[in-house]
Amino acid sequence: MAALLEIRGLNVVFDGFRAVTDLDFSVHSGELRFLIGPNGAGKTTLIDVITGLTRPASGSVSFDGRSLIGMREHRIVRLGIGRTFQTSVVFEKLTVVENLDLAATFRKPITSLLTRRRGLLPAVAAALETIDLVDLADQPAGILSHGQRQWLEIGMLIVQQPRLLLLDEPVAGMSRAERERTGELLQAVAKDHTVIVIEHDMDFLRRFANKVTVLHEGRLLREGTVAEVQADPKVQEVYLGRAKEPVEAVPGGASPGGAVPGGASPGEAVPGGAVPGGAESGTPAEPMASSGKGGL
Ligand code: ADP
Ligand code: MG
Repeated sequence: MAALLEIRGLNVVFDGFRAVTDLDFSVHSGELRFLIGPNGAGKTTLIDVITGLTRPASGSVSFDGRSLIGMREHRIVRLGIGRTFQTSVVFEKLTVVENLDLAATFRKPITSLLTRRRGLLPAVAAALETIDLVDLADQPAGILSHGQRQWLEIGMLIVQQPRLLLLDEPVAGMSRAERERTGELLQAVAKDHTVIVIEHDMDFLRRFANKVTVLHEGRLLREGTVAEVQADPKVQEVYLGRAKEPVEAVPGGASPGGAVPGGASPGEAVPGGAVPGGAESGTPAEPMASSGKGGL
């Protein structure tokens, strides 16, 4: 079966800096794929290329057999590719359900807006259930916890019924309970969508990931199951020596005023691995959340 997303020989260069080098990457329909790698590995850049935000220097990117190269962002969205950003995009003054409603309708023709019934669109009602925010449906999004806000963003994607969802560090900064819930949510969403999730936290991966792709310095380092990836000496080397590094970011204290969890800024700490009790000492590939490569 042909892959839903097929990337070959991808190179992305920013002012002479190679952010992605000779990357081959493909994802089949129905997969829940995890994408990991130290800060600066090129994960967000890869998503930016798929969604048309960044133009590659060379290489091919095709979705369901169509080339995405040179295609405008809104057309790529219309083909059925949705993404979240590392920064939040919910409207804080609107209620949860209004945010979902807006996401469900804002690309629809004006006629469908005019003929809108009162009450919930079926897609909105279903999304509310999936993201577990039924009880908060009429509350302003501004009161949501960081985790709930991430779920709302995922809900705002799924109401648009994309075929491929690209989620950039959805669990960064979440509490342990929120992570757990998010893992379940991702598995539910993956039942009828293809999903690519960027995540650092190995504990989370072990619980919820099947196939993992590891990027390092813009290259594909390894692809396989969580166990295979963790056992790989190259992967261990990338993360080795950082196990004892203090992780400064505090999970749960994320995003005051829209700070970017896990952003690519040099030296920035990634909250992903700072789960209390989440790190098992003695596993070399454990500290996947280290930010030591941030200055790349
Ligand atoms: P990741 O998401 O894996 O942490 P990114 O894809 O954000 O990494 O970044 C990969 C590398 O490319 C980093 O070194 C980053 O600084 C650089 N980079 C990303 N976007 C830009 C840009 N617009 N201009 C210049 N450099 C960039
Ligand atoms: Mg990133």
